[in-house]
Amino acid sequence: MQLAGDVCVVTGASSGIGRQTAADLAGKAARVCLVARRRELLDELLTELGGRDEGHSLFACDVSDRSQVRGLADHVGATYGRCDVLVNNAGYSDSGTFEGPTDIDRIERVMAVNFYGTVYCTGELLPLIEKSAPSSIVNVSSMAGRLGLAGSAPYSASKFAVCGFSEALHLDLFGRGVCVSLIEPGLIPTEGFQHAGLQNHPVMRHALGSVEDVSAAIIDAIHNRKTERVVPRWYHLLQLPRVVLPPLHWWAVSKLNEGRARRDGRKDESTGEDTT
Ligand code: NAP
Repeated sequence: MQLAGDVCVVTGASSGIGRQTAADLAGKAARVCLVARRRELLDELLTELGGRDEGHSLFACDVSDRSQVRGLADHVGATYGRCDVLVNNAGYSDSGTFEGPTDIDRIERVMAVNFYGTVYCTGELLPLIEKSAPSSIVNVSSMAGRLGLAGSAPYSASKFAVCGFSEALHLDLFGRGVCVSLIEPGLIPTEGFQHAGLQNHPVMRHALGSVEDVSAAIIDAIHNRKTERVVPRWYHLLQLPRVVLPPLHWWAVSKLNEGRARRDGRKDESTGEDTT
């Protein structure tokens, strides 16, 4: 796909990965529809990208609300009459161990945004996406959608669900001209995923990626019709032990968990400032 003139809907465009991706798509002369809840941030970005004169638009909505997402599909249909690319990127992190009944609510909330938000946007826009084929749906999952780590059960569940949905949907839609791509970012400092302690860590800071890296991977996946991109690429290797040597995988994640518990212990004893 060439992107110039294409209509690209990007959810979660008010910050981080989505904002960068929207700007980079606009830089390739695509017409971008910006989606998120914070209208004022979308307004700012719209102006920065050249506004409606350049074919861009915005639609403020909560992707976990199906009726609002139906409104988004109406807006895209009325404004453009087509949708060449949908980037399902809106999402948030939910960390903390799963302890019992009240945590069921947390899982429902994070599934509503990260998983059902993806499902609603895909479903409501699919008639336009199919009509615009060859077209693309890009779902932003996470490494946490491939590997479950301690303290991330709700978030991991939502991102594993996105992976399963994407892989199966790709097989259903590819024959009809729609490529479904999965993007799995690792540790990317953004507003909602600050990874603050890691940025000064002597070793772990090298494991951080950037929003520019993820945006480039998204555009590569659209352009070259790739089904999966891990960012940074070497994170792919982290999935290997689980497949070829499961005991090594479980040993490594237990060690990680012990390290985390030690750091949490230190945090409790000191000022309460997060050291991770
Ligand atoms: P971010 O800077 O916090 O951006 C999250 C975006 O999602 C914001 O634009 C936010 O906009 C939007 N959003 C959240 N809830 C929404 C809702 N209910 N309806 C509509 N929009 C909503 O974080 P990010 O790092 O760029 O995250 C983007 C995606 O990458 C997420 O799906 C995340 O899970 C994934 N990811 C990130 C990392 C990382 O380390 N950064 C790693 C793996 C995966 P509003 O608040 O304005 O609605």
